[in-house]
Formats: sequence, structure tokens, C-alpha cells
Amino acid sequence: MEKLLFLCGLLLSLAAADHATAAESDGKIKVLVVTGGHGFDREPFYEMFSDDAAIDFTAAEHSKTNASVYDREDLLSYDVVVLYDMPQNITDAQKAKFKALFDKGVGLVVLHHALVSYQDWPEYEQIIGGRYQEPDPKKPGTVTKAAGWRHDVDFSVAIVATNHPVTAGLKDFSIHDEIYWGFRVGNDVTPLITTTHPESGKPLGWARTQGRSRVIYLQLGHGKEAFENADYRRLVAQGIRWTANRSGSGKSADAVEPRVFLLDAKQLLMARQLIQGGGKSFAPAWEALLKEAQQALNAKLVSVMDKTVTPPSGDKHDYMSQAPYFWPNPATSNGLPYIRRDGERNPEINKIPDHGNILGMPVKVQTLALAYYFSGDEKYATKAAEFLRAWFLEPATRMNPHFQYAQAVPGVNTGRGIGLIESRGLTQVVDAVGLLADSKSWTEADQRGLETWFAEFLRWMRESGNGRDEAAAKNNHGTYYDMQVASFAMFLRQWEFATNVLQQAKAKRIAVQIEPDGQQPLELARTKAWSYSTANLSGLMSLAKLGECVDVDLWHYQTPDGRSIRKAFDFLTPFALREKEWSYQQLGGWSPEGFAPLARQAALKFSDPRYAELAEKVAKPKPSDRANLLFPVAVKRRLNGS
Ligand SMILES: [Zn+2]
Repeated sequence: MEKLLFLCGLLLSLAAADHATAAESDGKIKVLVVTGGHGFDREPFYEMFSDDAAIDFTAAEHSKTNASVYDREDLLSYDVVVLYDMPQNITDAQKAKFKALFDKGVGLVVLHHALVSYQDWPEYEQIIGGRYQEPDPKKPGTVTKAAGWRHDVDFSVAIVATNHPVTAGLKDFSIHDEIYWGFRVGNDVTPLITTTHPESGKPLGWARTQGRSRVIYLQLGHGKEAFENADYRRLVAQGIRWTANRSGSGKSADAVEPRVFLLDAKQLLMARQLIQGGGKSFAPAWEALLKEAQQALNAKLVSVMDKTVTPPSGDKHDYMSQAPYFWPNPATSNGLPYIRRDGERNPEINKIPDHGNILGMPVKVQTLALAYYFSGDEKYATKAAEFLRAWFLEPATRMNPHFQYAQAVPGVNTGRGIGLIESRGLTQVVDAVGLLADSKSWTEADQRGLETWFAEFLRWMRESGNGRDEAAAKNNHGTYYDMQVASFAMFLRQWEFATNVLQQAKAKRIAVQIEPDGQQPLELARTKAWSYSTANLSGLMSLAKLGECVDVDLWHYQTPDGRSIRKAFDFLTPFALREKEWSYQQLGGWSPEGFAPLARQAALKFSDPRYAELAEKVAKPKPSDRANLLFPVAVKRRLNGS
């Protein structure tokens, strides 16, 4: 790992490439921490950044004379600039360089006394959203009734923006810190935190956007007591992630990444710019996507009301399906109870259309949402919204948010936890909605309604007996359960829960499902051993993709005895290449197809060119393949310089 990083860095420096791409390839947020013009307690201050494994920071200090940090050649290569400085002089050239940050979309996290910088530069106040104006410019630091500061105050901090990624998961807390009063706050800011302290200015923190960038200011942070305060640290850490646009919560301004979790937000944005700019490199894939979107425009809306049978509850709004591998019992006159024949689908299940619809609807919705996102043509968003309302929201047709009657086994039960494998497509819905964020057709009320639906469905997954059974499943069912709850939780901004699920997937999924040599014995035991091995690995890769949104690295996680996603991939590779014969069971014939998307992900995530070659070899992607738009291997390789 270290060697690879070193090599990557070497190649980059040889190519004189910008260092930001190196930071991107190891997934860390590249942060420039700017000081100068005010003293501070260095060690505990820098520890806030060095303790944060998700960032890679560089400390920079202004010269005594002016804001010299902005003269740095690499200024625009950072994801985020943190200001903990308080200079007063800045040259015109430095102002221009500072403002270029916002053309590029570099995030800005402004802390504490940086509210006092550049007393003579009005635009700075507008950019950071406020200003502490010295009551007496000739005697900086003067304290008056109108404006002043006081050290060593114990006070409580209240969360104002409970739904904001910067404050996500935080409750009101207390801190020992310095207060300011009399500072100005712009009227275009979103307040994040405040206090009831009678003397302190309010709010204590806010967010705004400047050009393509996200900006936050936190008044807190004078010294060691603040730097070591866990809640303050979390505000800073989440502020860095949000301004870096890594918290997965984009507002859909033009150049801001869409709020998606399994799709790649950066790539979507890039593909959109290329398509709208008339670029030809994606043309075949884009044309194919438009063709499918046209079909979806003409497709009939579906809902759980389409079924002719009624679930045991008597309420057709309940989802219902029958277990696919269970058949009538030949030993009984009425065929009950049904018996299991693994891997053999009973065609009887198709009589209830809910299963087919809950798989097909998300595919159409995502196709339409992509067509809208790339083209800006409202008609695609309109149809996507109609599909979503019919399935989730319209009182006459909506599905109740639970899966109590999924995969029933006649004569045995009326539904099983295992049925939750059938709702996996809803993760596509969640991403599609992120692509519709700008659309007139998808209203605030729709968004709120859908969030309520998913909050209820997620609660059912976590609390019901069937949901808990599925969570406890060791094999691919457990993997797809995690994928769903993590994706839904991110959609609902339940970051802490999503992070926990993905952290726990290391021990609960990777360590349990994969042998040190890469075999997945729980899937190899199935009658479709190849299909299930690739399907489970695909689920694990989805978990790794979701992990990127919350800084949990499952791509490179490995147990001490060597179990990892990469091992599982390497184990399957010689079979996909037909260098080895698949000797396990595989009902219905063997085909390497399911392996191609996995090879593509491996090529993107494992910094070893072997994987990119492999992806070409396993199944040469057709130019019309949608994956060329969403996960383009060759383009990514060039960008990473590897
Ligand atoms: Zn201070």
C-alpha cells in the first residue's frame, strides 16, 4: 500500500501533475490550514487535523507583511482551505488568488479570529458571511460595550440547523472558550449553531455558498479547551467534509455534485459538462441512454395496486411476493407446505407483480433521472416524478413502507426477512432523487414525502422481526441488507448510523464471508455458486462505494489473516478469464457476464494497472454501455495519472 502510494506520487511528480490528483486517488480530503497574524496554541490546534484520518493537511503561515499564503502555486489544488489567521494587509494580487478559490469550488472553513481579518476589505466580510469590526481601528483588541471579547467563559452551544451535514449527529453541548460580541452577520447565511449566553454575539456559526464553493464560519476555537472539545472537533471535521463536498449532501447548484451515494457524483458532474459541451467521447453511451429514457417515457406507471391477490392483512397497499425457490410438496394432496429447491425458480411467483415492479421501477426512474440530469430536459424528470409518486406517495396507489409479506412460503409463513433482497433496487431510487433535485417536477413536498416514506421503511428494517432476521443473515442477504440500510440512512442524513453499519461490515461481512484465499464459502454452497459469488461481491463493492461517502475504506480493508474484497475478486478472476474451470455447482449454465462490472470497479479502485487491463479482457465494454458514462475506466486512469 505504501509502496503503491509512493509510486503514484513519483509518477505524478515526473509528469509534473498537480498534487491534488494524488490526494484524490487515496481518497483523502486535501486541506490547507492557514495561520498568521494571531498567536495560538500550536500543538493541540494541529492535532485536530492530524487526528482526522480522512484528511491530508498542509500547514501554511502568512509572512509578517501580508497574506502571502495566497501566493502559493498549489493554492487551487486543495479541496478545502481552513482560515485560522488574522492578517490585515493583503495585496490586490493576493485578493485575486483568494477569490479564485471560489471559481474552482474549493471549500472554505473559517475559524474564530479569522472573523477579524482585513478590516479594510469589505468583500472579505461578504465572502465569509460576517465581520468583527474593531471598535477602535487604531487600538486593535479594544473592548467596549458595543463590541468586544472575553476569554475563559463556560457556556452552552445550541444546534440551530439540526438537518445540516455540518451539525449532523450533534446535540447541544457546553464549551470553555472565548466569546465575542458585537460582530455582524450577513443576511444570506444559514445559521448552524448559537448560544443563550447573554453577552455573546449570535449565531456562533453559519454556512453559505460563495461562487462554486461552500463556506462555513465557526466563532468557537480560541484555544486548547476548544481544540480538545469533542463536539467542537466534530464541527470542524464535518465542516471540512461538507465544504469539500464529501458529506454527500450537495445542494444542486450548477457545478455542485449531485447528492448520490452509489453512483459517482464527481463523474456525473464531469459527464454532464462533457455532454452539454457537445463532447463526443461519451456519445454512443449517451445516445443509448436517451433511447432507454424514451422507452421509459412511454412506459406505464406501476404500483402495488396492480396485483390481483390481496395480502394476509387485507390491505393491497402492502407489498407481497412469494419465495422463488419453493415448490408444491409432492407428498401432500394440497402441495402444502411448499419445499425448497435451491436455484430453481417457481414460475408461479410471477403471478404477483410486486416483485417484478419493485425491481423494474427503480431502473426506469434512474434512467429518466440520468437523462434529465445530463440533458436538463424537464420531460424526463416529470415522468420520473410520476413513477415515484405512484409507487410511494399517491394515497390511492402508494406502497405501505414495510416488507412484512415479502417472499412468503405457502403453508409455512406469510413472509420472511429474506424477502428484503427484493427491495435492493430502492437504493437506485435514492440516487435518482438526488439527480432530480433541481427539477420543477420534483417538489419540496415530494421530497419530504419520500423522506418520510424511507424513514419509516428504514425503521421497519431495523426494528421488525423480519428485518432483524435479514440483518443477522451471514451470506449475501446480510450484505444487501447493509447496502440498503446504509444507502437509505445517507438519504435521510443519518450519517452516524450509516457510518456504523459500514464500519461493522468489516467484521460482520468481509471477515465472515471471505476466506483468506478469497473463496466465499457461503455462496459456493449454493446451486448457483458462480452467480451468488459474483452477486455477493457486487454487494460488498457497493458497501465499499457507500463507505466513500462517510470515509470508511472497505476497498482496502483486510483482516489480519488476509480476507478482503480484493482477495474475493482475485479468487474469481481466473474463472472469469476461463483460465480455470468452474468446478462448483452452477445451475442454468455458467457465464462470465456478472463479472464485468466487478472488474470495472476493481480497475477504478485498486491502483494497479493490471485491473484496468483485466476489465478490458473480461468483457470488452461496448461504446454504448452506460457504464462508460457512469464509471469510465480509461478516463479515470488518465486523471489519476496511474
Ligand atoms: Zn481568541
